[in-house]
Amino acid sequence: MDSNFNLDDYIRKVPDFPKKGILFYDITSILASPEAFLFCIESMMDLYKDKDIDAVAAIEARGFLFAAPYAARMGIPLIPIRKKGKLPGITLSKKYDLEYAQAEIEVHKADVPQGKRILLVDDLIATGGTLEAAKAILEAGGAQVPEIFGVVGLPFLRKENLLVPTPITTLIDYDSE
Ligand code: AMP
Repeated sequence: MDSNFNLDDYIRKVPDFPKKGILFYDITSILASPEAFLFCIESMMDLYKDKDIDAVAAIEARGFLFAAPYAARMGIPLIPIRKKGKLPGITLSKKYDLEYAQAEIEVHKADVPQGKRILLVDDLIATGGTLEAAKAILEAGGAQVPEIFGVVGLPFLRKENLLVPTPITTLIDYDSE
């Protein structure tokens, strides 16, 4: 893995998407570069190699793109966390607040491994609200969430103390929009 790799070169910045005033950090440009994509997956493998991670959980939809190859390479289970109404089995769910609305996410109850250590993954961490809800359902299902990973971080948007004390690791942070 090249520690001098400049991931910023592979993140498309789209002003005023999905609405005016938001700078959208698009990771499809990472996926379009096998070199950049592999850098992300190998970085995850390196970051968590000594952390006794038993399974990886990921947030629909862009979190899946990074968590799935990581899970396959590590030989550990992948637990999809989906928007309400998509999972056919018995689920654990949680409502959470977005800026102007409410959302709800779900996980298959049977997929949450009791007492195991789960790495929770999304593509981008903004307020942290989605990850907080995901962490809560995994813990309600009896698992532990000792680590959270995002490819991109926007720490200036993070709600204070939201994910404390869980360590959050990102590959690149942006300071302001
Ligand atoms: P949050 O719950 O506020 O941390 O929002 C995180 C989710 O919203 C992630 O799944 C991101 O994909 C998406 N998101 C929020 N803000 C942005 C942004 N500025 N650029 C790209 N994705 C974003």
